[in-house]
Amino acid sequence: MSAMPSSRTVLAMRRYLSPLLRFTSTSTYALSGGSDPQACDFCFGNPQEMPLPEVEAALARGVKARNKDWFAYKMSEPESVSVVQPTLKARLGIDFDSRDIFMTNGAFGALAASMRSILDPGDEVIYLSPPWFFYVPMLLSLGAVPVRIDLPEPDFELPLEAIAAAISERTRAVIVNSPHNPSGRIYRDQELERLGEILEMASASRERPIYLLSDESYYRIAFDGRTVASPVLHYRRTMLLYTYGKTLLAPGQRIGYIALPPSMPDREDLREAIFTAQAATAWAFPNALMQHALPDLETASIDVAVLERRRDRVVAALADMGYQPVTPEGTFYVIVRSPLDDDERFAEELAAEKVFVMPGSVFDLPGWFRISLTANDDMVERALPGFRRVLDRLKTGTAQDR
Ligand code: PMP
Repeated sequence: MSAMPSSRTVLAMRRYLSPLLRFTSTSTYALSGGSDPQACDFCFGNPQEMPLPEVEAALARGVKARNKDWFAYKMSEPESVSVVQPTLKARLGIDFDSRDIFMTNGAFGALAASMRSILDPGDEVIYLSPPWFFYVPMLLSLGAVPVRIDLPEPDFELPLEAIAAAISERTRAVIVNSPHNPSGRIYRDQELERLGEILEMASASRERPIYLLSDESYYRIAFDGRTVASPVLHYRRTMLLYTYGKTLLAPGQRIGYIALPPSMPDREDLREAIFTAQAATAWAFPNALMQHALPDLETASIDVAVLERRRDRVVAALADMGYQPVTPEGTFYVIVRSPLDDDERFAEELAAEKVFVMPGSVFDLPGWFRISLTANDDMVERALPGFRRVLDRLKTGTAQDR
């Protein structure tokens, strides 16, 4: 019998992530795509161009020590909180208490700490599928029970009635993500208001209320002049979660936050819970340098207008060829129906053209694939003929047999 190093919990996480682990270890992309200079890489939300000069400059300024505590242990530093607070006020019109803003190492840290602060083993958490890959593994790591609700294709709108029907005695939290990775949907204020009513009603009669974890990682990446609504205005027990990794397109430099609205009941208790959870989640605070740089990073951003033009180019060109893309309202992803039922095989067909996309099976959406618009314009132009050739090959039955 082979050795079994994984704990049972990690084994369950590995099982859930197996399509992603396969994609990142044995696909043509994994084996050669990343290093090929001719590759058109649409796989992850990673930069395909040099970093923003503003980010580099902010880090360079932040690295210069001005006192003995410059690189001491950092928590939710008052200087960082005072950057976030006015941003939240300007966006939502809410005066968040500075004690209710928790600086984290990105949305990963914000999710991990918020989950840990409220969940016990056996608690059910409703999530919407297709989800961001790591919600389920993070829930499993805490012994919580992920309860999956499918978003309806092809509009991926908020399935309010299905959420209401899935709430049980053991439901402790619901995770929503708007703008939504991977569909690009932005939930409307009215939808979020109704969600708030559902959760308020369900929480009324119970000892342990339901929390709403609102992953707003992409709220600054919205197209066509849209603004992104937040459920924080409609449900008292909302934890607003954010990462700067998207607007800065520097996800390896990690900073984000959890914010609790003043309407949140039992805030004092929750404050201590979140702090404790952050410490127990391997000190889930941003490092010192990122906090020193935050005042300059707050205003830096990739050019959303450029992203929007790239979206328009990709969506129009693919639709013109006969593909079925969903036009995203925000985020930097476009999902497209796979012309083959087997999306992993279709991704391999594109890989033969040096065009690398993420198969839908990797994010619980078999029969689709995802394009990341963080690819540069040059890659887009080089890739489009490849997308066309693969379709032509499939039509004439000359696709490679593998
Ligand atoms: N939530 C969503 C919806 C995401 O897409 C991502 C990153 N792709 C994260 C959370 C995690 O963000 P970060 O790595 O900046 O913590």
